[in-house]
Order: sequence, then structure tokens, then C-alpha cells
Amino acid sequence: MALLQISEPGESTAPHEHRLAAGIDLGTTNSLVATVRSGEADTLADAENSHLLPSVVRYVDGAAPVVGIAAHEQSAIDPANTIVSVKRLMGRGIVDIKHLGSQLPYEFVETDTAVPRMRTIAGDVSAVQVSAEILKTLKNRAEQTLGGELDGAVITVPAYFDDAQRQATKDAAKLAGLNVLRLLNEPTAAAIAYGLDNDAEGVFAIYDLGGGTFDISILRLNKGVFEVLATAGDSALGGDDMDIVIARWIIEQAGLDENPDPGLSRQLMNLARDAKETLTEQQQTEICLELETDKPWATVLTRGQMNTLIDPLISKTLSPCRRALRDAGVKTDQINDVVMVGGSTRVLQVRERVKDFFAREPLVDIDPDKVVAMGAARQADILVGNKPDDEMLLLDVIPLSLGLETMGGLVEKIIHRNTTIPVARAQEFTTYKDGQGAMSIHVLQGERETVDASRSLARFALRDIPPMVAGAARIRVTFQVDADGLLSVTAQEQTSGVQSSIEVKPSYGLTDTEIETMLRDSMDHAQEDMETRRLREQQVEADRVIEALQAAMAEDADVYMDPDEREQIEQALQALISMRAETDQAGLIKKEIAKLEKACGAYVERRMNASIQKAMSGHSVSEFD
Ligand code: ADP
Ligand code: MG
Repeated sequence: MALLQISEPGESTAPHEHRLAAGIDLGTTNSLVATVRSGEADTLADAENSHLLPSVVRYVDGAAPVVGIAAHEQSAIDPANTIVSVKRLMGRGIVDIKHLGSQLPYEFVETDTAVPRMRTIAGDVSAVQVSAEILKTLKNRAEQTLGGELDGAVITVPAYFDDAQRQATKDAAKLAGLNVLRLLNEPTAAAIAYGLDNDAEGVFAIYDLGGGTFDISILRLNKGVFEVLATAGDSALGGDDMDIVIARWIIEQAGLDENPDPGLSRQLMNLARDAKETLTEQQQTEICLELETDKPWATVLTRGQMNTLIDPLISKTLSPCRRALRDAGVKTDQINDVVMVGGSTRVLQVRERVKDFFAREPLVDIDPDKVVAMGAARQADILVGNKPDDEMLLLDVIPLSLGLETMGGLVEKIIHRNTTIPVARAQEFTTYKDGQGAMSIHVLQGERETVDASRSLARFALRDIPPMVAGAARIRVTFQVDADGLLSVTAQEQTSGVQSSIEVKPSYGLTDTEIETMLRDSMDHAQEDMETRRLREQQVEADRVIEALQAAMAEDADVYMDPDEREQIEQALQALISMRAETDQAGLIKKEIAKLEKACGAYVERRMNASIQKAMSGHSVSEFD
């Protein structure tokens, strides 16, 4: 999806009012929540100071599900009720899930809806419900840390997620009570965290090696628009596979049975993972195995040995890289930066191989676990409206309203500003003269109400409208803005089908500063515009009341008014006339109108009764039956 770079529309009316927003990385293995505080994005920790929330949910009987570290620790003892890697199931039907293979330890229940459910001790649950538990935990963490309810969140998804998977993610968020500002592609989030969106243009490779998945994305930033050129990956390759090869090595070294029981298997995997992570910091590490029968067994694993073990796995990530580059039509020397994402890119050998492949130092300054959540937080902060006006930002929304000129020099807005693109909106107009054969279409941009206060984008004409009486022609004008911000306007007469159209340049030829000025202008004038309209309305109303009363009094004031009453009414009338002439405040005129209406209430009633009687006199009663 393309992102259009524009200047911040200054949604926050009060600059001091900071709205609470979070970025959420809903990962296969781990999830995180981050927020921007004092201008810096950072992830939030739980009470035990842990930033990563294992994406694991354990359902228990008669209590709320356990989420995170505790659930992860129990996954070995209660696999059937402990859901791991639920992200793989999002938006998937039962058939897709069967394809995922037999390694899933859950019992799937087929339902009449297409959504498969897993049988747990606490009832059947869908992937959306499980994900919602993870999101709820992160939402609570954010709200406790920030001391208030979240106004909105940006949730990241893999670039290759299809509509069903994205919709499922949105559903989970809704279920968790989150207001989703936007779903953001994970690689784009990582690029944003590194501030790559501040460059004018470039091609970037985002290398994301997590626990169980590998994704490579090639992004192109062009005039502030991020475009996903290609994605590739391996949905069954990650840090877990490194753990497996290390565990096998331990089995071999210790002379254990090739197929250890589940308990020992778990122990081996944990040892392997710890060893792998330690070797990121150290040259070697000791591995100690608690065996039930024998005395403890121990050995040393060096970084070099581990590198040899895991190297084939790293090589496996390079073929999707080649594929993505080919699909994107770029060569490695055209890549401006390589961003490292995912816990497994901490492994030094991974960095080394990636550096060799792309022939440049990959970006590793930001914690690869946190980088996606941090980019999402930056985006959330912008979308919720916390940025000062002069900051540049990425938004895939239209920056200013788009509309058409209508009778009287007024603007009819067709697409309002901040509408997410791509978007198409249509409206019907008609002719105002009998036999009108052509209609001129004037496309305008801006927030003001009148043509002369708006910016003219384009003019074109719809001709050959068949002769019809005024108001009979139905001219449908469609505004369409595509994902790149290209506006096209089409006008079509519905009965004859004649049509005409025009295209307008991306970002409508405005620089960011111009957009900003126009927005400031409209906001500066918004109040004024509104007051002018209210004043005009009250002036018109005052004129109507004054005229009507004067006409009535000229006719029959001496008949229906007693002198005292007359004096009061005349005073009120004079007061309204002078107020109408003097003030530019709608409220003051309104007040005088109300006073006058009150003063002449009895008179008006008397007149009305009299006129009814007059109307009835001379008619026989039966006529009114
Ligand atoms: P996901 O995107 O799938 O949710 P993460 O990005 O959180 O996964 O990556 C998890 C993986 O990162 C695990 O395999 C873990 O062992 C690995 N990892 C975390 N820290 C380190 C480290 N210091 N050295 C090597 N691997 C690490
Ligand atoms: Mg991840």
C-alpha cells in the first residue's frame, strides 16, 4: 500500500492535549506495545520489566486465560489448551489450516461458519479470539503505564497478509476494545522507526528473521510514498530452527536417544535457545544437562561451532532475498539500506551473511525485537494527532478536501480531507436551465466554503447533454483518488451516457508548505466563516420579522392593540431595527428577535383568531364539516 507524505493536518485543537496512542507488533512468537513519549518511541514493559510478551495464550477452566510468559512456560505441560503461533491461523479456513500440517497440537472444531475453532478446556475459541487476548494484555499494559485509556492504536501485519488476514487482525483488535487507527505493514514500520521516510527517496530491503518465520521486503520510497515492490520469505524458517539444530548437536554429543521424550525435548530446546542467545554476547558457552539417571552432563559450545551448525539455515534465507530482488527489478547495489528486524537478526553470523549478500552494513542500531513496534508507535502518534504542525509525516489520506463549484460561487465538497486513499465518491448534479447542452465542471481543493477562497485544480466541460427541461438531467460526477494520490474526475449524464473526464497530478501540485498554509488558513477562518454565516442567517430572519410586523401594524394596529401594548411593541421593534443595523453578533440580533416576538405574542394571537373568524363568517357551518 502506498503512503502519501504530507504535512500534519494539525488535528489536535489544543496543542497541550496529548492523546494516548500505541503501536502494537502482533508477532508470531512475541508481541510488543510501544508509545511515543517526549518525542521518543519506546516499548513498554510489564511489571516484571519484560518488554516482549510471548504470543501464547493458555485457556484454563473457570478462569481468565493466561497470556504471555506464564502461558509460554506451561506450554509443555498443557499443549492442547495452550495456543502458540496463532498468527499463522489468522484469516485462515479449515482447509488452509490442514495444509499447515499436523504439528498443531489443537483439536479443530469445524463450524458452519467458515471460521475454524480450537477446542479448549474453556470452550471453543477462534484465532481472532486468541489474538484478542494478546491485544487486550498489551492494551492493559499500555493503559497502566500511560495512566489513561488509549485513544487509538496502529497494529502491524506482514506485508503479504491478504484481506482476510488483515480483516481478522482488525476484528481481534475490535474484540480487545482497541480503536485501530491503521494496520501498517511490518517492513514499513521498521523503515519508519529508522526515519527512512525522512529521505526523499530510496530503495530499502527489510530483512526480518523471527522465531518461526522469515520475511524479506523490498520497499521503494518515492516522493514520500512507500511502495512495497516485492515480498518473499519462508513461513517455516526462524530462530526455532536454529534451536533445533543445536539441540540435535547436544543429543549427538551426549549420546542420547535420537527421539527424546517430550519433557527432555523441551529441556533441550530451552538449553539450545539459551546457548544461542548467549553466543551473541560471548565466544563460548557451557551447556549443562540434568539427566534423571546419570550424573549431570556438560559440554562447551563455541560461537564458531554454532555458526557452522546454523549456517545452512542462514543460506536458506538468501534465496528468498534473491527472489524478492528479482521480482522488484533491483540489484543489490541499488539498495540504499538494509534494515534488520526480528530477534534472530541478533545472531552475529546472520548479520555477517546479510552484510556479504547486500554488500553493505545492515542497520542494527535499533533493537531488532522492538523496531517494528517503535515504527508503529511513531505512526500512531501522528495519526492520533499529537504532532506539531510543521512535522512531516506519512499518511495515506488526502490532505485537503476536494470538491466542485456549484451555483452561487459555493463549493460542494465531494471527498473530505483525511479520507483514507484509495477512495471513490460520486454525487449527482442537474442542469438549471431548460435545454442546457453543456455543464462546466470546476474541481476545487480546500476547506473554505466559497470558490474564491479555494484552490482551483482543474476545469473541464461535459458537452452534448441532450436537451431536457431544467432539473431533469442527472449528471453523476465521480471523484477517484488512487493509492498514489492521483485524482481523476469523471462526469457522466446518466440517461444518455455522455461522459467526460480529467486527471489531476498526484498531491495536486501542492508543496507540503502550501498544504500546511491552506490548512492553517481554513482553520483560522473556520470560526470566522461560521460566524459570518450565522450572522447572515439572523439578519435575514430579523428583516423578515420586521417587515411582517410593520405590514401587520399598518393594517390593523389600532384595532387589535391597546395603547400600552403598542408602546411596548414599538419599543421592541425599534430595538431590533437598531440592533440589526449596528451589531455583527448573531446572538444579539437573535435575542432582540425573541424579545419582540414575546412582546407581540398576544397581538399576533388576537389577529389570528380574528382572521379565522373573518374567514368563517359568511360560510355555513356545514361547509366546514
Ligand atoms: P517473531 O517476529 O516471530 O514474533 P521475534 O522477532 O521476537 O519473533 O524473534 C524471536 C527469535 O529471536 C527467537 O528465536 C529467539 O531465540 C531469537 N533471539 C532473541 N534474542 C536473541 C539473541 N540475543 N541472540 C540470538 N537470537 C535471539
Ligand atoms: Mg516479528
